Amino acid sequence: MNFYAYTDKALKYLRRYYIQRFNSAKSMIRADKLNVINISKRLYDDISSETEKVFRRIAKHKYREICGEDFIIGMWLSGLLDNSDPLTGYVWRNDIDRKRAYFAESVLSGEPIDKAAKKAIRYWYGAQKQYADIVTDAAAMQAYIDMQTEFVEWVTAKDEYVCYVCNSRSGKIYPLKNAPTKPHYNCRCYLRRL
Ligand SMILES: [Zn+2]
Repeated sequence: MNFYAYTDKALKYLRRYYIQRFNSAKSMIRADKLNVINISKRLYDDISSETEKVFRRIAKHKYREICGEDFIIGMWLSGLLDNSDPLTGYVWRNDIDRKRAYFAESVLSGEPIDKAAKKAIRYWYGAQKQYADIVTDAAAMQAYIDMQTEFVEWVTAKDEYVCYVCNSRSGKIYPLKNAPTKPHYNCRCYLRRL
């Protein structure tokens, strides 16, 4: 079974949602050019809150898949999204406003709206794609911890992103607390409970 199957399904949904939401923002901006700041503010509020909801579903799904129990999320997801991530080096929540400002500035600087939106969707989706994996992995890790797992095995992805480091870890067994983190973006290797 593909460890990221549900994550990919969720990402597909999100991608469609982002495109729809950007399309409606594009029409609003065309009709009201002076209101770019407010329109982009609402746009990024919407896409970030929908993303957060989907991340919550991803985490719950992965957790249940591994330990068969409900994940009482509480502040767990906020903890992940409000703190600097070791792989990306940034804080998810702070990145929302950075991306929003970038989009608004490109529109205000006169870039054609279609082009600006296309670029903004690419940046936004790229980041959410990485974070969806981060959430998936973190939920699995939480399930392993809650199940008092002692050892995990590194399962190397079978895709074009696999690097030398990923490959060298294939099949290696680690105590859970010393399990290595992902060496690069788009790494879809994962840890399997033993
Ligand atoms: Zn990898």
